[in-house]
Amino acid sequence: MTDRIRNIVILGGGSAGWLTAGVLASEHCVKSNPEITVTLVESPDVKTIGVGEGTWPSMRETLRRMGVSESDLVRECDASFKQASKFVGWVNGQPDDHYYHPFSAPQDYGDVNLVPAWAEIDGAPGFADAVSFQPHLCEKGRAPKQIVTPEFAAVANYAYHLDAGKFGRFMQKFCVEQLGVRHLLTHIDGVDTADNGDISALRTGDDRIEGDLFIDCTGFSSILMTRHYQIPRVSTTDVLFCDTALAVQVPYPSPDTPITSHTVATAREAGWIWDIGLPTRRGVGYVYSSAHTSDEQAERTLLDYVGEQAVSLPASPRKIPITPGHLETFWHKNCVAVGISAGFIEPLEASALALIEMSAQMIADDLPATRELMDVAADRFNKRFLYRWDRIVDFLKLHYVLSRREDSDFWLDNRRPDTVPDRLMELLELWRYRPPGRRDFPQIEEIFPAASYQYVLYGMGFKPDPSAHSRRLDDRQAAHAAFRANQQLTAKYLSGLPSNRELIRHVVTHGMKRV
Ligand SMILES: Cc1cc2nc3c(=O)[nH]c(=O)nc-3n(C[C@H](O)[C@H](O)[C@H](O)COP(=O)(O)OP(=O)(O)OC[C@H]3O[C@@H](n4cnc5c(N)ncnc54)[C@H](O)[C@@H]3O)c2cc1C
Repeated sequence: MTDRIRNIVILGGGSAGWLTAGVLASEHCVKSNPEITVTLVESPDVKTIGVGEGTWPSMRETLRRMGVSESDLVRECDASFKQASKFVGWVNGQPDDHYYHPFSAPQDYGDVNLVPAWAEIDGAPGFADAVSFQPHLCEKGRAPKQIVTPEFAAVANYAYHLDAGKFGRFMQKFCVEQLGVRHLLTHIDGVDTADNGDISALRTGDDRIEGDLFIDCTGFSSILMTRHYQIPRVSTTDVLFCDTALAVQVPYPSPDTPITSHTVATAREAGWIWDIGLPTRRGVGYVYSSAHTSDEQAERTLLDYVGEQAVSLPASPRKIPITPGHLETFWHKNCVAVGISAGFIEPLEASALALIEMSAQMIADDLPATRELMDVAADRFNKRFLYRWDRIVDFLKLHYVLSRREDSDFWLDNRRPDTVPDRLMELLELWRYRPPGRRDFPQIEEIFPAASYQYVLYGMGFKPDPSAHSRRLDDRQAAHAAFRANQQLTAKYLSGLPSNRELIRHVVTHGMKRV
């Protein structure tokens, strides 16, 4: 058979390229399997994006399945543990305005509807504080696991903050040395096509790199999907306005400064500022709408946030233009896009790396045995990821549409009904009378489950209509039992867990037990 899919060529060596290579090579045992090769080609001249420091808990499973050592990850990627996102100033901009979107589901989630009982409590704590111990751990800078907890295991669900540049080099070494991925450092300047329109080879000078399946991980260049195939893009600027980022690395005032166990996203007049704590520095950046502020004003806003540490910045802020949106088709002919080449929108919930993991896993699971089967795999992939992009847009917009900030056109424009996707509008109507539930998000691997919507919805101060509350006494009793259980877990974990910095220091020196 001549049309077997044997040679996979990944173009691009950023996080998308190496994560995809790692998933494919480990799932298909490339090192010991003569039937299949994975080759990653990257340009020595085009730098990787070098940002993208917040991950999701899914990254733990992705790396564990590949055989990565979590202790090595922490040591070599300057990684810390992340348990949540904390949104500051999104509701009204007042000094006490903040809420959490933690990684752990609400207490007794799925068994008990906690919302009516919580909404009725006079002077109730924030929703996430009442139903999850994790915001309390974050506020106290606690780690999500104990010093004796083995690699990848957790007391509280967690992900990583990591140095994107170091992560790329770490993954490269692991994929090449442990998983049998071939690595070619060369700039691609042309594409050869077959009669059916498939890519037959990538050209570099007089050399050709042949393959059966090509994966475009070339970031904003999108060499294969946009430049070669000219696949149209779906713009999302009518819904999400942020189109520029300014990023800086901020040193700690002292080596003992606590490391936050969550990403902080602080609202500003034309966007928001991310603040990520790594063991050796913070990564901070302002994501803003260029239609609502100037670059000069944005830089002042960012440096103002950094405060006293601004004088010790190693470099001036780096500007990164973003074109918010995604491809209309992700898999075309024998080429599939993963990572920024497939699309990018503001990193408000750090979903880009998670989407890369999901893309790589679906390609690995559905890897077509023959060229004939590839169109079936492509169709499934395209439908699945169009759905996912739409859900990401909905979920990010939810953070803006419920805001009551009045201080700038950015926030007012974000609430204009014509900027809100229809599906989100409908759900918001339904949620006045019942909380977000599983039937609102029916796919098996929803990118944001109903629990995430609950955290953001009630964190942003959305008030359910009391007339719709369940009148069943046992519902109330079960909800109050869940609140008490959460208080007990909070006290137990606060007393038993080390600080984020203590745990990281221990891992760097002694490592974690491997499973
Ligand atoms: C400001 C900002 C903040 C972000 N924050 C987060 C976050 O917190 N969490 C998250 O999950 N994601 C985040 N992201 C997204 C994340 O950074 C990316 O999804 C991730 O790094 C993957 O990038 P990539 O590999 O697709 O592209 P890149 O890193 O840009 O890699 C592109 C690769 O293609 C190669 N290449 C290009 N042209 C050629 C050529 N002609 N020949 C050969 N090779 C070529 C380059 O050499 C490079 O190796 C953020 C992005 C931005 C812009």
